[in-house]
Amino acid sequence: MSFKSLGLSEPLLQAIQKKGYETPSPIQAKAIPPVLEGKDVLASAQTGTGKTAGFTLPLLHLLSNGSQQRHRPIRALILTPTRELAAQVYANVKEYSEFLNIRSTVIFGGVNQKPQVNKLSQGVDVLVATPGRLIDLENQGLLSLSKVEIFVLDEADRMLDMGFLRDIERVMKLIPAKRQNLMFSATFSKDIKKLAYSILNNPVQVEA
Ligand code: AMP
Repeated sequence: MSFKSLGLSEPLLQAIQKKGYETPSPIQAKAIPPVLEGKDVLASAQTGTGKTAGFTLPLLHLLSNGSQQRHRPIRALILTPTRELAAQVYANVKEYSEFLNIRSTVIFGGVNQKPQVNKLSQGVDVLVATPGRLIDLENQGLLSLSKVEIFVLDEADRMLDMGFLRDIERVMKLIPAKRQNLMFSATFSKDIKKLAYSILNNPVQVEA
């Protein structure tokens, strides 16, 4: 099994090579093909399994294949529970998109919103965000999620543990009904299954 055989484009293979990855991890081998096919995916994966590349690589592939729009609406939204995770995921997005014409940024609470707003106003294709700051900036009219094509919910179980259910529900109302959804969680309680059922459309289920 190779990254190339999964169908990822040359600029992504270049970035993967630069990272020094030789073969896809199990979660990557299982999650990347259905994501590339445009399917919704529900993945059971812990941190450390390579799950971030598992959704970031195919997401970037899909976006770079799509039509580049001049005003650069946000086309992919990655929601994470904490600012540390948001920063980490964003670092991955940056690295994997090095050889692509894709712009990205990250927003989270607890810091001045101005630099985040400046970056957003320049237009980004991929936004990594924590729920509170995302909703806050949307309420202020400083970002729009109306053109989101791919929605990723990372560490969904931690999201619920941290009390973000209402915020997730609010975000779902701000993005188009027709979209591709990817949900990652380490555990699968009844509440997580209920959330998955409300967000995902006929998902492919994969396990690390
Ligand atoms: P994650 O589970 O996404 O937090 O990734 C855990 C660590 O594994 C990170 O340091 C990644 O850079 C690394 N990693 C991800 N995919 C691979 C791979 N295919 N081969 C080697 N290392 C990887």
